[in-house]
Amino acid sequence: MCDKKREDPHRPSEIVPSDYDYAFSFFESRWYPSENYLREQLNIEKVRAVGPKANVYEDIFKCDVCGTLYSYGDVWLHRPTGEYITIGEQCAAKYGLLAAKPEYEHRRANDILIRKQRKRKLEGFLKARAFVRMLPEGLRLLRALRCGHNITHDMRLNLLKWGSVSDAQIELAFKVEKEHAEYVERAKARASEINIPVPDDDNRHRFFGIVESLRFKENFRFGGNWKITVRVVNEAGEVYRIWGTCPSSILGDTKSGSVVAFDAKVSKSDDDESFGFFKRPTKASVIVEAQ
Ligand SMILES: [Zn+2]
Repeated sequence: MCDKKREDPHRPSEIVPSDYDYAFSFFESRWYPSENYLREQLNIEKVRAVGPKANVYEDIFKCDVCGTLYSYGDVWLHRPTGEYITIGEQCAAKYGLLAAKPEYEHRRANDILIRKQRKRKLEGFLKARAFVRMLPEGLRLLRALRCGHNITHDMRLNLLKWGSVSDAQIELAFKVEKEHAEYVERAKARASEINIPVPDDDNRHRFFGIVESLRFKENFRFGGNWKITVRVVNEAGEVYRIWGTCPSSILGDTKSGSVVAFDAKVSKSDDDESFGFFKRPTKASVIVEAQ
């Protein structure tokens, strides 16, 4: 109605709290930060249905007593006139208009919790964005954090939560990204290759192949050995892999990617006939050095 001269019985100077009966409560909160963001609401349809009968302001989120805007409010029935008013919860408390409203309290607490979480999440995101923009290698870091590895996935969540990551973590992210990309490439190559059984007999064979990995394997008694996995491809392009101790004569020159040759005996793996274990390699040489 009007903001100038009020004649209604609900105005602050005239209100008689004992003349009112509690009807129900309602709220609608817009989750930070967007107007169009998800809304949590309670009894909004119901209050809109009653709203036109309210005596003072048409806006259901404008307190019919004091005129203040709010998100959480009550509907009370004014017994002498049969009119309903909508009133903000703070105003209601101020005039002692108190009622038991367990569902509302529960939903309201939940809504406030969710808004806090969203606000914290948004703050983390904004901090993280500012942090990444300041980094000379920011874009590269973002790419690394999306490479699909568990470590970088967790690091990304931490960046979003805390707004920054340490230099050591950034280095780690780049390392993980590189290794993961190589792993994916190998997995792709494997998916398209045709595997054949390893030569499973007692004879010694000459093997030519590319070293796919060179790793130190600890051994409790002897300290450990450098082990290589060698991918052997025949003229038809068929593949098997053999694994064993890197011959000491080529250990210094062998890297992942080196093409090597040696004589050895092979025994087949129980799990995979295209995988074997070579023993006592001799006449080893590096044919092509790794790039
Ligand atoms: Zn009010």
